[in-house]
Amino acid sequence: MPTVDDLLRASAALHQHLCPKQVLGVRMGLLAADLLGLSLPRADKRVLTIVETDGCFADGVSASTGCSVGHRTLRVIDYGKVAATFVDVETGQAVRIAPHPEARQRASHYAQGARGHWQAYLEGYQRMPFDQLFSWREVFLVEDVRAIISTAAARAICTCCGEEIINEREVIRNGRALCRACAEGAYYRETEREALAVRQLVQRSKRRPGRQDGTLKDSFGE
Ligand SMILES: [Zn+2]
Ligand SMILES: [Zn+2]
Repeated sequence: MPTVDDLLRASAALHQHLCPKQVLGVRMGLLAADLLGLSLPRADKRVLTIVETDGCFADGVSASTGCSVGHRTLRVIDYGKVAATFVDVETGQAVRIAPHPEARQRASHYAQGARGHWQAYLEGYQRMPFDQLFSWREVFLVEDVRAIISTAAARAICTCCGEEIINEREVIRNGRALCRACAEGAYYRETEREALAVRQLVQRSKRRPGRQDGTLKDSFGE
């Protein structure tokens, strides 16, 4: 089992620096391992981690849990908070951990002689007992964890924009499959010319049979 120092080195290697937020991420993962009774980091998909911000903290969590976006075991729901929920997907047990509101003030007690606040956080966060550093509680996920993970290889076609949707992320409206961008509004806007080109493409594909139901059996030759 890797030590805190091993994990901090792994996290720092992703960044070429070590900072207090990475320490919080690494130690949060270690506490999650204790609370869930699981050994971390792990290479399988037993643990799903939902981090509430991106950045250095998320890389620290990734180093200590083994969870990553690439493995579909790490999600970012951006509340702008240095907090995370760790889910044992086999049992459904979930625990949400956040820094203790007094963690910053307390850090200096564990980093005597540190030069400046930043250095005190960096050193203090590594040494503080979990109950000084974090607060945590068991939680339930609002969405079923199986729905979050979804069925592998599920595919649909958006009946509006014509793009493929994987991982059961389509939304059904009036019996039609839509991507979330079309159903709920996207985070981007297209230029007029691009929008026109897409509309023409969709019109053409609609003329072909077997595409109206929003399902796709054999896309991209897979
Ligand atoms: Zn950093
Ligand atoms: Zn769409």
